[in-house]
Amino acid sequence: MTAATAEASHACASSANAFLHEVIAKTPGGETLTKCIQCATCGGSCPSGPDMQHTPRQIFALIRAGERETVLRSNTPWYCVSCYYCTVRCPQEIHVTDIMYTLKRMAVQAKLYDDSTAPDFSKTFIMWVEDFGRAFELGLMGVHMLKHNPFGVFKLGDMAAGMVSKGRMAFAPSRIKGLDGLKRILAKAKELEVSA
Ligand code: SF4
Ligand code: SF4
Repeated sequence: MTAATAEASHACASSANAFLHEVIAKTPGGETLTKCIQCATCGGSCPSGPDMQHTPRQIFALIRAGERETVLRSNTPWYCVSCYYCTVRCPQEIHVTDIMYTLKRMAVQAKLYDDSTAPDFSKTFIMWVEDFGRAFELGLMGVHMLKHNPFGVFKLGDMAAGMVSKGRMAFAPSRIKGLDGLKRILAKAKELEVSA
């Protein structure tokens, strides 16, 4: 290997490690990521696997290879429904679900998500939680559809009316007790995220 090739290879490895270290630093228990043995148990357990561009196993291999843009553009974290199957089944006790949350945040911060309204869906979800302390499904779906698929609201209307009439969905949002305490917790979480 020539000196120039060795230098390029070293730079590449450093940048790969930089991405890996960033993901680890931003995830509670993230250091477990380095123990991945690529066994694929996570992908095999994942209910969203068929819709994901990359399985969690592939995402972890890409992270270790420093493929920052491919990872942050992948739809994988956005299809994660936080069921924690992967996390409880991983033989290496890797915090798979928490890493998915980290990748979502990083993709939003870097504006590196392709053709997905999922980040905006998350923001609308948080808006309801901040205002009322809990999700409000009808408002969440209504606001999201009006922003991204206004004609879909009519289809949604029939389904929503059925669910509201059967008591499966609330017609109006209601505030939780202790909302001020929750707001303080959320404000602190945001502060920690900014400083991370
Ligand atoms: S189950 Fe755990 S060890 Fe296996 S590929 Fe997934 S993250 Fe890696
Ligand atoms: S937590 Fe996410 S990545 Fe893990 S199995 Fe569930 S949907 Fe798949």
